[in-house]
Parts: sequence; C-alpha cells; structure tokens
Amino acid sequence: MTDFLVLQNVKKTYGDLVALDSINLSVGEGEFISFLGPSGCGKTTTLRMIGGFAEPSSGEIFFEGVDVAPVPPYKRDFVHTVFQDYALFPHMTVGENVGFGLRNSGLSKSDIERQAVAALETVGLGSRAKDRPNMLSGGQKQRVALARALVLRPKVLLLDEPLSALDAKLREEMQIELKRLHHKIGIAFVFVTHSQREAMVMSDRVVLMNQGRIVQEGRPEDLYSAPQSYFSANFIGNRSFVTGNISKHSGTGGSAKIGDYELDIDWVEPTLKDGDTAKIMLDPKSLTLSSDSGIRAKVLAHQFLGQSRRILLETEAGESLNLDVGVDGMQIPKVDEVVSLAAVGGSVRAFTPEGAQS
Ligand code: ATP
Repeated sequence: MTDFLVLQNVKKTYGDLVALDSINLSVGEGEFISFLGPSGCGKTTTLRMIGGFAEPSSGEIFFEGVDVAPVPPYKRDFVHTVFQDYALFPHMTVGENVGFGLRNSGLSKSDIERQAVAALETVGLGSRAKDRPNMLSGGQKQRVALARALVLRPKVLLLDEPLSALDAKLREEMQIELKRLHHKIGIAFVFVTHSQREAMVMSDRVVLMNQGRIVQEGRPEDLYSAPQSYFSANFIGNRSFVTGNISKHSGTGGSAKIGDYELDIDWVEPTLKDGDTAKIMLDPKSLTLSSDSGIRAKVLAHQFLGQSRRILLETEAGESLNLDVGVDGMQIPKVDEVVSLAAVGGSVRAFTPEGAQS
C-alpha cells in the first residue's frame, strides 16, 4: 500500500445522514483514479475532504505520512481542485485568472505572468493570455480552469465532474486531452464522474461507490470483466440480466435454471446457495440463437449499430435481453418471433439480487 495519499476509516455524517461510511482508500503518486457512482453516493464529499473543504466526522487523511486534518484548504499546497463550473473571474484576462493563485507567493508580477503563460501553454492556450474568459469556448474555459490549478504545482489534482457542462463531442475531446495532460505532467488526478464510460476510458483505477461506501475498486478492465455484485455489474457495462435459480454451486462456478433451461455459470457470488434466486448477467455478445433448448424470448425490435445489429428481446418472464449479431452471418429473427438463446463464451455471472440498484 502506498503512503502517498491515504484515507483511513473516513466517515462523514450530516445530522442523521451518513454521507460516507468508513472509507479506506489509498491513491498512488501520479495515479489517475476516478470516483464513480450514482448521484448522492458520496463522490464529491470524498473529494471535498481531500481538498480540505469539508472535515471528516471521524477517520484520518494522510498525505505523505502526515495527517492533514488541521490544514485548511488554502494551506493544502499539495492539492488543488478544478470545478465543473470553471469559476473564472469575468473581469480579469485569462492570464490574470491563471496567475491569481500566485498573487501572494512573493513572485514578481512578470514572473507570475510568465508562469501563467507557461501553464496556459501546457493546456494549449499559450496565445490566449490577454483574452477575456467570455471570448473562449466551454472547452477552452475548462482548460483555463485546469491551467489555474496547475500553475500552483499541486501533487494531486482534484477534478469534480469537470466535463459535465460540455457537449458530447467536446467532452470526448477533453477526455483525450486530460489523459494526455496527466501523462505529460505526471501528478495524481482524482476525478469524480457519474459516467461509467468516462471513468473507464480515462482511469488507471476506478473506485465504484454506492450509498457512502466503496462497492468495488480496480482497473477498468477488471471492474468490467469481473463485477463482484449486482450493483457493480449493473452500473458498469451494457449487460442484460435474467432471473434464475441456482441449481449447482461448486467452486467458483455452477449452473442455474431459467425456466426449463440449465445455463452454465462461470462465477457464482459466494453467498448464493443451491435453490437461491439469482440475477444472471449475460453479455449481448455472448448469446447466440439456439435451435435446441435455451432461454425463450420474443423479439421486440432490431437496432442497427454499424458493424453489428442488436436484437431487443423479452423473455417469457418479462425480462429484457439484448443479443448482438453480425450484420451478415447469423440469420436475424423477425419481430414477434419467439427464439431460444444459449450462452456461448463470454462471462456469465450470477449475483444475489439484494443490493440491486433501484
Ligand atoms: P452527485 O453526483 O449528485 O454530485 P455525489 O456522489 O457527489 O453526488 P455527495 O455530494 O458527496 O454525492 O453527497 C453525498 C450525500 O451527502 C448526499 O445524500 C447529499 O445530499 C449529502 N450532503 C452532501 N453535502 C451536504 C451538506 N453540506 N449538508 C447536508 N447533506 C449533504
């Protein structure tokens, strides 16, 4: 475990509300880590406590081995925050905005200007120092906000949904740019988002949260391929779930009955026993039409996805199921046709339905 930035048993309550429930987490030096989760799960509260804008009700936060609880935000030199709404001063130039945090640093005016331009260059806006913020696009304003934090040379940059005000295309461009910037400057980025896609494409590690707790953390590929709970599986990835009954649980795998069909399961949540009802995760790409037995479902509609076609189905139990097929290849069943589906390859996982996201 690294001792760079460590949260130890951090709890935050507001009256009776438990916003964060004993979080334990460590962030590595230079790591890109994302807090991901639904609204109200405690992402911003965690970020605010690292930044010093909120105090833990109990627990400790250490930076490089030192408890930072007594350090107010303006003295937490190791960390700076980029907010979603940029918070730029409209009456100042872009350069003055970026240099603002250095005004009490003892540097001369010309040194501050030089450093502000250098920070703007880092984000590709070196030529815009004399402009006013209202002359910039949303993406450019966001980059100024980044430069304003970077000029203070933090070791940890906190980013609170910094891209959510941008349109979809710009958001994607900024994701790439942030990733490149992270690579270039090599400091730790702690990023808050409720977009699973954003967390997955950008982060070294994703911390998935729900109701004030860390539900699962790991590399994006591990979270995607090995969700440990129904909540994780449902939140990450585009999967379907059918309800079945565990018919065998041996080792980590087993099988489940869905109607008359017995489906092999690669991983069964350890708490599930034979006969228990389970939510079974099925990847749209791991299903195929079967002329033999299978999960019986009726075709509701087709969607053209470019390189594949998605077939939207409903099982006999009324659950939605998606099947992806190549554009040419497998014969495509017609709308209203009832088909049998078998699982081939992919990862079929069974979860206890409790804790299901509402
Ligand atoms: P979102 O994605 O909507 O920003 P979040 O995961 O960042 O959500 P938080 O802002 O951390 O969630 O809030 C966690 C919980 O704490 C919520 O139930 C919220 O209403 C509550 N909360 C946050 N700040 C305060 C406060 N200052 N006073 C009272 N309750 C608060």
